[in-house]
Amino acid sequence: MARETIYQQSDSDDDDRPESSPAEVSSPAEVPRSEASGEDNKLRPKRMREMVGQRDVIERLQIAIDAARHRSEPLGHILFDGPPGLGKTTFATVIPNEMETVVQFANGAGLKAPKDLIPYLTNVSEGSVLFIDEIHRLPRSVEEYLYTAMEDFRIDIVLGEGVNARTLNLDLRPFTMIGATTRAGMLSGPLRDRFQIREHLGFYPIEDLAEIVQRNSRKLNIPIDAESATEIARRSRGVPRVANNRLLWIRDYAQSKAGGAIDLDVAQRAMDMIAVDRLGLDKQDRAYLQTLVRVFAGGPAGIEAIAHTMNCSSDTLEDEVEPFLLRYELIVRTRRGRMATPKAYEHLKTAS
Ligand code: ADP
Repeated sequence: MARETIYQQSDSDDDDRPESSPAEVSSPAEVPRSEASGEDNKLRPKRMREMVGQRDVIERLQIAIDAARHRSEPLGHILFDGPPGLGKTTFATVIPNEMETVVQFANGAGLKAPKDLIPYLTNVSEGSVLFIDEIHRLPRSVEEYLYTAMEDFRIDIVLGEGVNARTLNLDLRPFTMIGATTRAGMLSGPLRDRFQIREHLGFYPIEDLAEIVQRNSRKLNIPIDAESATEIARRSRGVPRVANNRLLWIRDYAQSKAGGAIDLDVAQRAMDMIAVDRLGLDKQDRAYLQTLVRVFAGGPAGIEAIAHTMNCSSDTLEDEVEPFLLRYELIVRTRRGRMATPKAYEHLKTAS
């Protein structure tokens, strides 16, 4: 009866529903992800042994999974943080498969009020996984709702209003929450503390990316030599998703212009055509550096000012452009803003 009441409440405002509804609870073999393209899903590893790199993270997770399975208990809640495309969703896909359980996918941006979260929580089955991507985008009211759900597997639902309001305590089945964020710093302390396992995913070394390119070219049935795989890896900014996208583009280019096979010359020509330079920077990355150097005389400049000048969102710059530029020491962040380094000036000279 309690569950019926809950659904009536959320029915009143269908437009606010999260994109992927709990009706999509899937079997481990077919994990849905609305924003992922078909090819992205095809290339995404389904089991831990298919994942490349991040060995220390995998080793720690494997231990936690083995122990949880041994005790027949759900795995502790896990938080992944790191720039986009490094494997957070992939981990949320393989972990339920290793645990032989199902997963529901939600996005922090879609959970605007506690009522949006309730269908997910009431749909969790014993030991299953609830994945919340972009968990830093949860409003405080929803976040607070998660506290008892994560800690005591219980939620309090307020029914009715004013003097007629009453609280219903609902017990949930024990489950595992997996959160992913590109902005660990934006997460509140109480939410962060409720994750027993916290893992940071860093950029991948070239050898790991080359291995991913080799494996995926086999999956896509395109012949590629080791030299070309390394060249793609070198120009992929340390990010598996970027490596996959480069590979898919080079495959198209090879099929259209070079009879299907990828060699070093084909790979280089294809990447030159989409203006990916030898460091792997694309047009947007270089536009950022050029804006900082030309418009702001090398900085310091605030992120909002740079974003306004480039006519794009500061979130995109912070999430997708800056992490690699910082890591490659092309920019530095100071208290007064972003500054271009001598390496950035040098790179722009040779890249333009
Ligand atoms: P995030 O959720 O961090 O944005 P994803 O998990 O969606 O990143 O990863 C993007 C793509 O990169 C995946 O579809 C997958 O093909 C590939 N990928 C990510 N991590 C790995 C890995 N460790 N091994 C192999 N492929 C990976």
